[in-house]
Amino acid sequence: MMAKAMDKKEQDKLEKYGKLVCQFANAKKTDDILISFFNNLQSAFNFSKNFTKKALKQFPTKKIITDSLTDRENELLEILWKRNNILKSCNAELSHIYCHVDKYDPIKETFTIIARIYFEGIPDKNQDYFEDTHLILKKETEEFIRYKIESYYDNYLDKDIFTDKSKEVLEALVAICHNIEEIRQGATNRFAEIEKLAETYQDIYCLHNYAKENQENIKSILLKIIKSKNAYEAKAFKTILDGYNKIKTEYIVNKKHELVLKEPFIEENFFKDLQVAKTNISEAQLLFNNPINYCLVEYLKNPKYSGKEKISICQDCECFFCKSKLNRYQRYCPICSKKNHTPKDIQAKRTKTSRAAKKKREVTEKRKELYEEKYKQLIKEKFSEKEAQQFAKQYVIEQMP
Ligand SMILES: [Zn+2]
Repeated sequence: MMAKAMDKKEQDKLEKYGKLVCQFANAKKTDDILISFFNNLQSAFNFSKNFTKKALKQFPTKKIITDSLTDRENELLEILWKRNNILKSCNAELSHIYCHVDKYDPIKETFTIIARIYFEGIPDKNQDYFEDTHLILKKETEEFIRYKIESYYDNYLDKDIFTDKSKEVLEALVAICHNIEEIRQGATNRFAEIEKLAETYQDIYCLHNYAKENQENIKSILLKIIKSKNAYEAKAFKTILDGYNKIKTEYIVNKKHELVLKEPFIEENFFKDLQVAKTNISEAQLLFNNPINYCLVEYLKNPKYSGKEKISICQDCECFFCKSKLNRYQRYCPICSKKNHTPKDIQAKRTKTSRAAKKKREVTEKRKELYEEKYKQLIKEKFSEKEAQQFAKQYVIEQMP
């Protein structure tokens, strides 16, 4: 009895793990990814009831951020987020030169470049510096930055910092700033407000992008696992397994003085990790990857099942789903399995056949009615049973040949 109860509990837990992975992969928008991910974390790892609400406060959906904006303002916000990202990658490309691009003005066609001037002359992270702001015409930017570096590095440059990549990002920045200038007038009269929103939620925008990237990644891994003959030998599975093995599992002594395995995910830690994730790409990836790797391996590892047999892709809506029990022939997800999947031509044929059969039944019924009516009438008119049968039969043939 006890063993059976344990089984049920374990089974419920595994179902929750499978659900977390499938819903993450199936979500349509990043907002749906977040909501399902938080709800499933809460339920799979016994987080407090208001966990999702709390998590969405710190990691809001785009809908929460943009609810008060019009469609055009929303579009503008998306472009501003993109521009800020491009600016970031511009500076990532140019960072080692101690000059950074602060902004680009599409009307004056100038970059604002801030150069750090070090008191000791040699650029060094630990040294004091002051910032020198320069407005540089677009066409003079390259020359200016080159000049600055050459003065820092004592006329020596071991490699050209204006690589194709850095030129490309600078050009992308110019293009997107001109694009924003073109649309801002028609889109809104509260540009400053939207720019402020873009700045406040820049980290959240990036986290949404990571969620999307993570989703693409997990989808392709699940597909490979499903398609491979032996799931555990699939290369894609190895990535998941490596991640799983890095998750620290430890035993602790509980209040009943028993040694128990500690839950791998703790609510407080999630919020700490979320704070770090906002400014750290690899932490942001782990935020999603860790629970997914854990849940997927735990879901598949149960020896009662043969790994990939438990997870499948619906042949109708193409979503991932967890198979019920061990039905290895289940081809459709629970929602689609309620639909009619018989091919259209066969369905039409069946309808035709069943219509013909129905008509035949109706005719037979009608003949029977006619016969009985006539028979009763003839009996009333004192014909013998045999005569009544014969005449009634004759009557039906005349009426319904
Ligand atoms: Zn389906």
